[in-house]
Amino acid sequence: MWFSAGVHPLHSEDPRDWDDMLAAARHPRCVAWGELGLDRHYSQPPHAVQRAVLEEQLARILRWTADGLAKPVVVHCRRAVPDLLPVLRASGLPADRFVFHCFTETPAEARQVLDFGAMISFTGVVTFRNAPEVAEAARLVPDDRIMCETDAPWLSPEPVRSEKPCTPAMVMHTARFLAALRRTPWDDFERTVDANARRFFGLPEGTGR
Ligand SMILES: [Zn+2]
Repeated sequence: MWFSAGVHPLHSEDPRDWDDMLAAARHPRCVAWGELGLDRHYSQPPHAVQRAVLEEQLARILRWTADGLAKPVVVHCRRAVPDLLPVLRASGLPADRFVFHCFTETPAEARQVLDFGAMISFTGVVTFRNAPEVAEAARLVPDDRIMCETDAPWLSPEPVRSEKPCTPAMVMHTARFLAALRRTPWDDFERTVDANARRFFGLPEGTGR
């Protein structure tokens, strides 16, 4: 098991200690920064607060990166692509080191994220019959930019959507759905997403088996 270190936008108003985040990031099993980002699905914490914490966090990550703690960044984005992309662009961090996790935005916004240069990762939401635009977005992502995940304990994929909690093994349903959607043979897709995750997070060969 690996983990990430960061301040989630929905916790922007909670007490935080940047030194704690740095200490967590120094752990050998910490492979990423985040989740960090913006969430406009909820009105709280206020968006100005979310944005201020995000900008401060990215500035700190840039400094820590320069100090030798280079890690990819897991981005949480809900209804916030137009606000978020300029902030990420201005961060000074390379675009290909960001992944928009649990992508639930529109195909047009997927296009913007891809043009920016980030990776995109899909959860069980992509399998939901009431989220066809997310499936449409998943068709647009090039092979070397796609990943999939559980986002457990919520978002169990079809056909086990009603089973709670979502568990890591259920990611197979999401991955198989994505392979079929993209008309990619299963073995090829599995190899692709495994390789993408290993490369992006710097995980050792054989991870995920
Ligand atoms: Zn998230």
